[in-house]
Amino acid sequence: MKTAPPRIQPSPATGWFAGILLGAVAAGVAAVVYFFNPATHRFYPVCQFHQLTGLNCPGCGMTRALYALVHGNFAVAIRDNALFVALLAALAVRGAWFGARLYRRQPAGEFFPVKFLWPLLAVALGFTVLRNLPAGAFLSPGEFAFADPRGRVQSGFHEHDASFDNHDV
Ligand SMILES: [Zn+2]
Repeated sequence: MKTAPPRIQPSPATGWFAGILLGAVAAGVAAVVYFFNPATHRFYPVCQFHQLTGLNCPGCGMTRALYALVHGNFAVAIRDNALFVALLAALAVRGAWFGARLYRRQPAGEFFPVKFLWPLLAVALGFTVLRNLPAGAFLSPGEFAFADPRGRVQSGFHEHDASFDNHDV
């Protein structure tokens, strides 16, 4: 296992900087979503795909899922966008692994190698098809439960609620 040719790695400092920058941006986005419920605030980007087709794209429900997540409501987050929650979890695991490698000054390779791309696209495509089928309706945002502004989960909600018409990304 020692036959691999030496590779030029980006310096750990570059990795740390990128990581810290990304973390800061993510924290900023999370903070905005934390204080402004996507179901009641209109300044969030609206999904053009959903507006045109009435179907859910892989990103639909993402902001609402983030809102539920930062309020500790995992069940609602998964219901709003399970793919987004899974990706966040994968990102956290990958980030922890990557950070540990950099910290120990071990070669970590690329954070997102190209070989990850196709499986990810396949999963996203499968998720998109599934959540738009009647059998996969539980993967669509706002079908069975929603978090009210206090973060409480209500189930079996069937009345028309105007907040559901606001299909943010
Ligand atoms: Zn969408």
